[in-house]
Amino acid sequence: MAIVDSRARKRIVVRGVVQGVGFRPFVYRQATTLDLAGWVGNTTDGVTIEVEGADSRIDALVTAIDAAAPPGACVDDIEIKEQSPTGHDGFTIRESDESGLPTAGVPADVAVCPDCLSELFDPLSRRYHYPFINCTQCGPRFSIIADLPYDRARTTMAGFPMCLECQAEYDDPDNRRFHAEPNACPACGPRIALWDGHGHPLGTGSDALEMAADAIRDGRIVAVKGVGGFHLICDSRNDTAVRQLRDRKRREEKPFAVMFPSIEDARASCRIGKAEAALLTGRERPIVLCRRTGGPVSDSVAPGNPRLGVFLPYAPLHHLLMQDLGFPVVATSGNVSEEPIAIDEHKAVGQLARIADLFLVHDRPIVRPVEDSVVQVVAGGPQLLRVGRGYAPTRIPVDGVAEGIVAVGGHLKTTVAVTQPNSVVVGSHIGDLETAESRAAHGEALGDMVRFHAVTPRLAANDYHPDFASRGAAEQLGVPVVPVQHHLAHVAACLAENEIAPPALGIAWDGTGYGGDGTVWGGEFLHVERTTWRRVACFRRFRLPGGEAAVREPRRSALGLLVEAFGHDAYGMNDLAPVAAFDTTERRVVSQMLAREVNAPLTSSVGRLLDAFAALCGLCQVNAYEGQAPIAFDSAAGDLATGKCYDFPVSADADGMLVVDWQPALESLLADLRAGEPPGPISEAVHNGLIEVVAKVAGKIGEERVVLTGGCFQNVRLTEGAIAALTSAGMTPYWHHRVPPNDGGIALGQAVWAAWTEGQGD
Ligand code: ZN
Ligand code: ZN
Ligand code: FE
Repeated sequence: MAIVDSRARKRIVVRGVVQGVGFRPFVYRQATTLDLAGWVGNTTDGVTIEVEGADSRIDALVTAIDAAAPPGACVDDIEIKEQSPTGHDGFTIRESDESGLPTAGVPADVAVCPDCLSELFDPLSRRYHYPFINCTQCGPRFSIIADLPYDRARTTMAGFPMCLECQAEYDDPDNRRFHAEPNACPACGPRIALWDGHGHPLGTGSDALEMAADAIRDGRIVAVKGVGGFHLICDSRNDTAVRQLRDRKRREEKPFAVMFPSIEDARASCRIGKAEAALLTGRERPIVLCRRTGGPVSDSVAPGNPRLGVFLPYAPLHHLLMQDLGFPVVATSGNVSEEPIAIDEHKAVGQLARIADLFLVHDRPIVRPVEDSVVQVVAGGPQLLRVGRGYAPTRIPVDGVAEGIVAVGGHLKTTVAVTQPNSVVVGSHIGDLETAESRAAHGEALGDMVRFHAVTPRLAANDYHPDFASRGAAEQLGVPVVPVQHHLAHVAACLAENEIAPPALGIAWDGTGYGGDGTVWGGEFLHVERTTWRRVACFRRFRLPGGEAAVREPRRSALGLLVEAFGHDAYGMNDLAPVAAFDTTERRVVSQMLAREVNAPLTSSVGRLLDAFAALCGLCQVNAYEGQAPIAFDSAAGDLATGKCYDFPVSADADGMLVVDWQPALESLLADLRAGEPPGPISEAVHNGLIEVVAKVAGKIGEERVVLTGGCFQNVRLTEGAIAALTSAGMTPYWHHRVPPNDGGIALGQAVWAAWTEGQGD
């Protein structure tokens, strides 16, 4: 006698990132294979499934959802409720239901998949060379979604009614394009065009592409509309073209990213290990920082930088262009210095008029700017330095967090974050809030995040800094505002993304952060407990003549450091590059600032200390871009591993706080410099000394868990060294992976700290 399975009907609610990743078609195929009746639909809550059939088969469906969800999906939670069987047959995909709270994760943009790619280059395919080919496994998402739930009607594809063939694919459960919301073809979808510098059309379709490729080959600069905005593209091998781009973009030395036709081409120019290769070819397609080894790329692309930002084509349009060109191109964000990346072709003609010779555009609107993500490999694994296309928005699970907190971020590399029950969602990289345009983009990003995640703001979190533009955004929300100290936010972010809770020792080293005590922090050791924190150690302070000006001019940090160490004698040390770099007038002004302690704040910043050391080694007196001096200093050490190490003694001050003294290291550095030692070994000795400081202070504090955060820990030598030193001293180090160690992580930290201290009165 056969065992008869009992018949049941169940409602299954799946939460997480389950829209825009081919989840409904996946469920459809599973359910029909299992001979289950019912339906599946996107709801504002995620995906809801109602199934009826044999109990064991319903269990099998739930197992499949948990174990075999499509790539890109992230199932956070499956809720199952019993229903009464209806006896209906068949399984259908339902149109979206707009009731309920939208808590569904917003899917990120995905690089073209291998199946679509082979169709793109298949002359027999009806999408042969069609730049907007996509399917349920790939294509634009976050950059085209105006609202949730994720359906074509709420994307910028709404204006492109599908032709009969596309509609048939969309309706066919056995088709890869079954419910692929951005589905399109040459007959019904978006089109490309080439415009001249005034926006006058020069050609469309393959003509446009060929003319654009010819122009790039000829050394011209072409603005190309991609997935999340415009790139400025030129031949990376052509030094004149690259310099012209620098001139026009007013970007003197900051490295440009390079798009290679293939990973093989990239390997010919850079050292690409296993981890780098996985990142380069993954569906997120970030810019990956790789060590340069040679190849045709002009030195003007990343002057003085041993690493190159490398990425591979991700949009079908890039594949077509790169296949035609066959050589690496500079592909940098299409913006004017600090402004947000251009997304609208009509506005771009004005915005980029003085930079681009031609515009390769298309008519699929981009809802919001989504910049390329930037990642590097640290200790064998990825570390995001900029979270954008492919990764944003990022959901970080944080136990115990309640909904309704909005974090506005800091001032540089700003992001925003909102809380949902037991998680924090971090938005895409916005940039520095220096211009009205970027402040407007910040406001829009806040609005998007609140709407997408159905957050009713009840608490805002921001930085202590009284002058940050993001402060205003927090105040405008009209809810109570919790200020979170900058370095505490760094530490909280690192704890949260590692899914650990305090207590821990947080080591937060960066350029500048408002301390709240009138000094500039940046070399901090914070002991963090569940709802309280204490600064337990910091670097010995020195003055920054000119305040903010010292951020741009490492020579100012050097002089401040020398004056703190040697008093007035410092001004006579004309053999030292930063001292000699001031003319007589400048020197008088600076010495007065230092003597009168006016516009010369005290700082404990490690970033500024590294600036000073770089300047003393003659590497950089005035920064052409943020972080240039420490990068040059780190680069000087190359692969040196002699073990040379300067001493940074640690002792307790009158209040019992530990202070790290840099003076013995400074004196050794000066002695080496005067003995003719090159910058390389000096840099190695400084870095080794700082690594020792990490282990020494952590040992004295005696907290087992140690968090490494802040912009200085973008430095791979420092981070990997500190990880090794802490591990061998028996402590457990934590560092950043999914959220940047730089100020891109501040919003997450603000949100988390505000959540942890809620109701505690901080
Ligand atoms: Zn595809
Ligand atoms: Zn079509
Ligand atoms: Fe910072």
